[in-house]
Amino acid sequence: MKKEFEFDTRYSDVEKDLQDRENRIKTICFKTCSKCGETKLIFKFSLDKRNLDGRTNICKACRSLESLNYYYHNQVKMLIKNREYLKANKENRSIYSKIYRDRNKERLKGLAKKWYKKNKKRIKKRNLQYYQENKEACQVRRELWIIKNKERIREYNREYKRKHKLASQGIA
Ligand SMILES: [Zn+2]
Repeated sequence: MKKEFEFDTRYSDVEKDLQDRENRIKTICFKTCSKCGETKLIFKFSLDKRNLDGRTNICKACRSLESLNYYYHNQVKMLIKNREYLKANKENRSIYSKIYRDRNKERLKGLAKKWYKKNKKRIKKRNLQYYQENKEACQVRRELWIIKNKERIREYNREYKRKHKLASQGIA
């Protein structure tokens, strides 16, 4: 009888310890992002010594979105600047690189194709893994790409439609 009693207290002590530990781990392991409001695992927040808990208040996903936006905003600016520069220096541009590219076009294309074919599975797997790990950033990047290439996409669609129309007319 005595043994059973002893066992019970010890067991409940263990249970209480476990519960305490779980609670402690919960407060150490999770944090709520002040931007998206989601509660996430602590390692989803970057290290920041200035904060009491040693982590930033905004999660990594939100921060990478912010920096991506910043990056693209600047990239668009750079592209415009580059285009203006090229326009201004059209005559001074070296023609050799163009000649080299033209001469080796097929060879370079062939090499790239060969490499892709050989590494297709690995590339696809890596891309998929990257996408799953950086879903939010990938989506933003895609949206920004569409915005940036609006005119090109429209042009491509127009050309595609035209070609198809010609092909179907040719068959008929
Ligand atoms: Zn967030």
